[in-house]
Amino acid sequence: MIAGVLVEISNKNVDKIFEYNVPSNLFDDIKVGIRVLVPFGKMKVEGFVLQVKSDKSTDRELRDIISIIDKEIVLNKELLDLGKFMSSETLATLISCYQVMLPKGFKAKNGTSINIRYDTYYKLNEKYDTNYKFNDKQISIINLVKDKKLVERKELLNISSSSLNTLVKRDILVKELKEHRRLIYNKSDYSVHELTSEQRSVVEAVINSSPDVFLLYGVTGSGKTEVYMELIDYYLKLGKTSIVLVPEISLTPQMVSRFQARFGDKIAAIHSGLSDGEKYDEYRRIVRGEVSIVIGARSAIFVPLKNIGIIIIDEEHSDSYKQSDPNPRYNAKEIAIIRAKAHNCSVVMGSATPSLEAMARARKGVFKLLELPHRVNGRNLPKINIIDMNQEIRKVKGHFSNQLIMAIKARLLKHEQVILLLNRRGYSSFVTCKNCGFTFKCPNCDITLTYHKSSNTLRCHYCGYGEKVYDKCPSCGEKALSNLGIGTQKVEEELNGLFPDSRVLRMDYDTTSRKGMHETMIEKFRHQEYDILLGTQMVAKGLDFPNVTLVGVINADTSLNIPDFRSSENTYDLLSQVAGRSGRSEKNGEVIIQTFNKDHYAISLTKYNDYLRFYMEEMKNRRSLKYPPYYFLCNIRISGKDAEYILGEALKIKRSLERNFPDFIILGPSACSIFKINNVYRYNIILKYKKKNNLNEVLKLVVDHYKTNLKLHVDIDFNPSQMF
Ligand code: ADP
Ligand code: ZN
Repeated sequence: MIAGVLVEISNKNVDKIFEYNVPSNLFDDIKVGIRVLVPFGKMKVEGFVLQVKSDKSTDRELRDIISIIDKEIVLNKELLDLGKFMSSETLATLISCYQVMLPKGFKAKNGTSINIRYDTYYKLNEKYDTNYKFNDKQISIINLVKDKKLVERKELLNISSSSLNTLVKRDILVKELKEHRRLIYNKSDYSVHELTSEQRSVVEAVINSSPDVFLLYGVTGSGKTEVYMELIDYYLKLGKTSIVLVPEISLTPQMVSRFQARFGDKIAAIHSGLSDGEKYDEYRRIVRGEVSIVIGARSAIFVPLKNIGIIIIDEEHSDSYKQSDPNPRYNAKEIAIIRAKAHNCSVVMGSATPSLEAMARARKGVFKLLELPHRVNGRNLPKINIIDMNQEIRKVKGHFSNQLIMAIKARLLKHEQVILLLNRRGYSSFVTCKNCGFTFKCPNCDITLTYHKSSNTLRCHYCGYGEKVYDKCPSCGEKALSNLGIGTQKVEEELNGLFPDSRVLRMDYDTTSRKGMHETMIEKFRHQEYDILLGTQMVAKGLDFPNVTLVGVINADTSLNIPDFRSSENTYDLLSQVAGRSGRSEKNGEVIIQTFNKDHYAISLTKYNDYLRFYMEEMKNRRSLKYPPYYFLCNIRISGKDAEYILGEALKIKRSLERNFPDFIILGPSACSIFKINNVYRYNIILKYKKKNNLNEVLKLVVDHYKTNLKLHVDIDFNPSQMF
């Protein structure tokens, strides 16, 4: 018997199947889709079995497989096929596509896999010999176990192992080992809500026109999560399984326990808060078929559930669904649609601020559009005020406008709570005028120019346009140019000065890095141990605090200045999300947004709580600047230590692409915003196109051409989520 094995070596040269001889003692266990240990050169490496052939069709001496790693198949036929498809679509190696499907615990380095721990259980052998002469102790054990299905060893605390073993030997007790589960959830009290008629019609629309791809556009607090759970429940009752994807940042313990409270042990949750051991346990429960619902971040789209009834993608607009580094650069939304086809099931993508790509598809009828335009129970969306900081900055010393100070004061008096967002996206590398808010933009691409200290220039990272830095602002003439960026700590100090009696909770990367801190802070704020929650992006998503009636955004502009064509969209999304945290229960909510760009549509349009108005405006820009969803993008990154050499090669690549694709727009090569990392220089070539034609084949040739070139590396990113 011969097995074809794809070995785990992350080097493009060996991304192919090698044949090994299967020793006769492994005949029964060898299967397509399991991992094995094989000799490779002088090493022992792991690999996936992709083929099993019974006859020895070659007369070469093949080396033997050393051992088998998995008893169960970890990659079934569907996932093996999916990997091949991903590899051809993303141009990543096949092995990297399979590796990304498995959780860390499976990626055993040097053969040290995570241990499986077992719990011991006992049960009574129904056909045991009743004529046996039991002593009193044995009778008491039998009484403990009888009438029960399975009794865990730890419930038999006072009983010695030897007494138990004796009963097992006599065939009176049966011993069973079950895999130990490291992860225990806190159950929350949660009741199933009667759906509103709006929610009900969304649920019915999905069920009645399944299978299809749906975009659920529902305002913040419209009860989307409740709709997801109802759909999952429906398919669960049909004996089907579900996958729920959420962005890592909103995969809070609250979110998980809400699902757990409704579906109990049928849920497995996979997220970065788990230890490798916990992840491994959860994954093995899925492999064994003990789980019907998986909730997780991006990579959970690959879980080996069978008979999937529905795939849900919450906060569909989040860029976290795209893996931008390392390979494979896949998008979980696209994978979801492919898996849904294989399972003949639906995909429901939900958002209060859908991505332009998704909304454009929905409006063209490629996706089915569903809407929840109102908050549950007639609650109002919050009132949004926009403060012009160009005016305020002359009147106040710190970062707070008078209006925001007054509004906070009023909440503190009423014992209501406040969330303050410090927008940290796009922190550093752009230049802004402290006096008038002016920022430098590229005349061709409409994105912010990035400051390059070494050459003292401002550059466009899309097209390569550059200009010298002035020391005076070209707009107002003041010598007030600076890199923008303020820290949460600084704002916290300012708050303490302004409101000495208030209790401020600062939530940012520093204060939440310890495991469990994020959760603890959220619980404390919910129990009103604090008045003001000050934080970065992590306070914007998914939180549901009934006593919060004011949301303040200290600096709305920073994310607008990121050199990325999606910066307006991302800013609008962020502001709408954080605004949605205000006034979620009976009390009405207010939002105050401080900005230097009050007339920028991504900011001014937040006022109306009307995503579609923003959508229309942004689509005009995308069309005139030839960005998605009007054009597809592909980013080709060329990197290497010799800047001159790689630039020369990049130009060659560009020219050959121009010859092959005369109707493409091809930009660059231009330096990446971080031009040099670890002495490796990086250039981007950006392709814009309407039809892909044979782009994959041509790019594959490019990748293959440089495969063995140690001086240069080519990375391909189709539909990149960020372009730095
Ligand atoms: P979204 O996911 O759209 O932000 P949620 O599903 O979290 O909205 O619902 C917002 C709030 O309304 C939650 O506190 C939820 O428990 C509650 N809710 C949702 N649906 C109903 C309903 N049909 N009846 C009563 N309360 C509901
Ligand atoms: Zn440009």
